[in-house]
Amino acid sequence: MNDVRSLLDALVERHSLTLEEYKFLIENRDEQSAEYAANKAVKIRKAVFGNSVYIRGLIEIGNICKNDCYYCGIRRSNTACDRYRLSDDDILKCCDEGYAIGFRTFVMQGGEDAYFSADKICDIVSRIKSKYPDCAVTLSLGEYLREDYVSMFNAGADRYLLRHETANNDHYGKLHPEKMLFDNRIRCLYDLKDIGFQTGCGFMVGSPYQTTDTLSEDLKFIEEFKPAMCGIGPFIPHKDTPFRDYPAGSAELTCFLLSIIRIMHPRILLPATTALGTIDPVGREKGIKSGANVVMPNLSPISARNKYQLYDNKLSTGAESAQNLMDLKERLKNIGYEIVVSRGDALK
Ligand code: SAH
Repeated sequence: MNDVRSLLDALVERHSLTLEEYKFLIENRDEQSAEYAANKAVKIRKAVFGNSVYIRGLIEIGNICKNDCYYCGIRRSNTACDRYRLSDDDILKCCDEGYAIGFRTFVMQGGEDAYFSADKICDIVSRIKSKYPDCAVTLSLGEYLREDYVSMFNAGADRYLLRHETANNDHYGKLHPEKMLFDNRIRCLYDLKDIGFQTGCGFMVGSPYQTTDTLSEDLKFIEEFKPAMCGIGPFIPHKDTPFRDYPAGSAELTCFLLSIIRIMHPRILLPATTALGTIDPVGREKGIKSGANVVMPNLSPISARNKYQLYDNKLSTGAESAQNLMDLKERLKNIGYEIVVSRGDALK
């Protein structure tokens, strides 16, 4: 069997490895080989994007959700969750504020809530796009019918984030109630891509029942699906969920996987996630140094922020807050990167 470094070299060349090879990378990494991976990833990212880091303003439009994902703090069964929904005007106000600070992408994320029907989303997207035609709109609102995605796209939405959560059907079944189907999630992803969205998948690192086998399947899925974006962050337990007693995923493995994904897909948009910034005070910087090139500060109204608790202690202040963009700029400047005012679209 190859060693970790020669497999990373092979990934640079081939942009593809076998399942066994991905598994070998994950199981045999150490500090030195992770650094080797990060250096390769950063070199590749610099060749494609220079030292630019793209920002997205994250607007958490509501935490009412019909789903009951075992890991998620806003799951339906969590009666301790204080529920809210933003109005169209609230959302537009977030965009106004964000535009003034330099955001050119707005991400609307929320629970799966019938109130946010495709028509409703289309109305909001149209309003944002007519007021800010130079901005991109990203949706992250879960599973809809293909025809709904089509109308959202026609209303002007540019991108859609829908983490696949795990590429293994059995593992999917351990993270979700029976009613939620792996096949439907994957169907959504293929529909989104086919419709023309810049599409993002992704997963949590260290989710309960995850193994090096399921992780290699995640990597293989990402390799083959060729998403425009990929969100990966550590699993962090939430005290009012069935997974409250499971350990959090690690920043170290998250960063190693970010490097692998960057090497696999040089042009991918790869965020250093809020979850990574939450488990490690310099997680965001570590993510960027491992090959990430996107950060998504929180642009939600202050009143909504502590209610959108996907996991315990989720950051929404400090450098994670859109209003503190200067702080984030400074932190990234210190490690040699520059936040740019740009839509930051996926490269063809
Ligand atoms: N309803 C939307 C948005 C879900 S929240 C959808 O279905 O896509 C966005 C992401 O947060 C999820 O896809 C999940 O991967 C992540 N998430 C949820 N609970 C989490 C937890 N406890 N720890 C870390 N990430 C979590």
